Amino acid sequence: MPRVEVNEQACTGCGVCVDTCPTDVLRLDPQEKAFAAYPADCQGCFVCQWDCAYGAIRVVVNG
Ligand code: SF4
Ligand code: SF4
Repeated sequence: MPRVEVNEQACTGCGVCVDTCPTDVLRLDPQEKAFAAYPADCQGCFVCQWDCAYGAIRVVVNG
């Protein structure tokens, strides 16, 4: 299953990834950091990684 890793120091809480994920995987936590709230729905499409202007999110498809 693909995995999403968020660099919490780099994440600004802009919410772009939450809006752009085609399968609605991501949410902001109470500290306004992105996290995979529905990881089983991740398709490994890399859209969140490409759309994050802060380089804060990384999609890992192997392992
Ligand atoms: S797009 Fe990047 S900076 Fe914005 S909430 Fe998502 S991970 Fe954080
Ligand atoms: S890789 Fe695609 S499906 Fe997975 S969280 Fe990012 S945008 Fe959503």
